[in-house]
Amino acid sequence: MRLVFLGPPGVGKGTQAERLSKQYRVPHIATGDILRAAMANKTPVGLEAKSYIDAGKLVPDDVIINIIRERLKEHDTKEGYILDGFPRTIKQGEALSKTLEQSGEKIDRALYFELPEEELVKRIAGRRSCPACKKVYHTAFNPPPQEGVCTCGTALVQRKDDRPETVKERLAVYRNETAPLIQYYKERGLLSQIDADQSVEAVAKRVQDAIFQKKSS
Ligand code: ADP
Ligand code: AMP
Repeated sequence: MRLVFLGPPGVGKGTQAERLSKQYRVPHIATGDILRAAMANKTPVGLEAKSYIDAGKLVPDDVIINIIRERLKEHDTKEGYILDGFPRTIKQGEALSKTLEQSGEKIDRALYFELPEEELVKRIAGRRSCPACKKVYHTAFNPPPQEGVCTCGTALVQRKDDRPETVKERLAVYRNETAPLIQYYKERGLLSQIDADQSVEAVAKRVQDAIFQKKSS
């Protein structure tokens, strides 16, 4: 099962991908997580990516395409994967199709998560993550048992690029550079649209339905 999760920042892709990854035992590959780990470790890629991420811009296509090409060679991807946050431009989408084609593989489904912009802003503003175990919470919609603290005991943090001044730029980048991928996957008959304006459980059910629809068709 090779899935692409498409949609604006804050729509809930990571939350759903995490659940599905456990259920189907396929890796959840989130390019944002890979880049944040590279930044934390101060690798050459991390140092290059930092200025783009902090400004709410996309990291250059060639950098991210190389990261994904290497990641997809790893053994744990044999039974499939969930790509979350990649592709984010048409060029990345084409590079992914080409890479898969070369190994006789293809994407099974692209799930496009939709949510009104004012809800996106609320979800992003309340997002808090654990720097240790990477668990993601929301101050109002999915709060931790103890305020500001992960169940693993680590203090939760707000991502620097989740601050309001950067969020506006990220949403504009999404509209201009990523949204054209909706049409790209639609034309290839791979797109399923998911109404993300519901509880985590209800969205998860729609995700299941979209995948099941594919399997039975
Ligand atoms: P993305 O990966 O698309 O950027 P996340 O999965 O990180 O989005 O979710 C963004 C924020 O919204 C997080 O704080 C998360 O806990 C919260 N969230 C995710 N799904 C829902 C939902 N269905 N209803 C309310 N809040 C949600
Ligand atoms: P995310 O965690 O998906 O919200 O991504 C955080 C940031 O990482 C984005 O705003 C971009 O700067 C960068 N990033 C993540 N994935 C990609 C990608 N596929 N292409 C370019 N930049 C990316």
